[in-house]
Amino acid sequence: METAINDKSAVGARKPRAARKPIPRLVQAQVLRRDGWLCRWCKRPVIFAPAMKLVTRQMRDSDHTGPLAYYDEHYRRDAAPLLDELAAVIDHVEAYSRGGRHDSVENFATACNKCNTRKSDRASTVLPSPRRIKAKYGEPAHWDGFSELFLVLGQQFPSLLTTADRDWRKALLESREQRREGQEAGTGGTHGGDRWATRTRTR
Ligand SMILES: [Zn+2]
Repeated sequence: METAINDKSAVGARKPRAARKPIPRLVQAQVLRRDGWLCRWCKRPVIFAPAMKLVTRQMRDSDHTGPLAYYDEHYRRDAAPLLDELAAVIDHVEAYSRGGRHDSVENFATACNKCNTRKSDRASTVLPSPRRIKAKYGEPAHWDGFSELFLVLGQQFPSLLTTADRDWRKALLESREQRREGQEAGTGGTHGGDRWATRTRTR
C-alpha cells in the first residue's frame, strides 16, 4: 500500500510517483553495491526484484505450471512474501521535494521494502530507529541480492529479458566494473555495508 508521502523508488517494480524524475538505473545499482545489498536501517539482506521476475519467467518457460510466489509487481505479501519483506528499494536520504539531489549516489540509501514503508508512514525524512538483526557470526560479506543470479540467467536465456532487464543488466555490469576498478585503485576498497555500519558496529 502506498502512502501519500512516498519517497522511494522500488527497484524494478512500481514507478515513482507523479513528476519525479526516475533515478538512473546505474545510480541505483551503484547504491545497492555500495551498501552491500543490505538495508541501511535493519541490515537485513535485500532482494533484487527483477531477479525474482526473471526466475519466474524461466520457471514458466520450463513448463512449470503450478502457482509461484516469487514475484509480484506490487510486492504483495500474499503473492510474493519475500519481496514484501525484503525487496530492494532505493530510498532518498534527503527528500527530493526538499531539494535532495537526484543524480548522486550520496543522496540515496538501500532499504528493504518493510523499512521503507515504515519510513514513509512517518511522513518525514526522519529515519526510524534501526531494528538490527543480531548476527552471531557477523554481517553477510558477500550477499548480492540475487543480482549475480540475474546476470547469469540473463546470459543463459537472453530471450527472456525485457528492455528494462537489459538496462538493468548493463547497469549491474557497469557498476560491478566500477567497483572492481575502485577496489584496485584503493578508493572503494571497503565493503559497501561498512560505510553505514560504522555508527553502530562495536568491533
Ligand atoms: Zn530494512
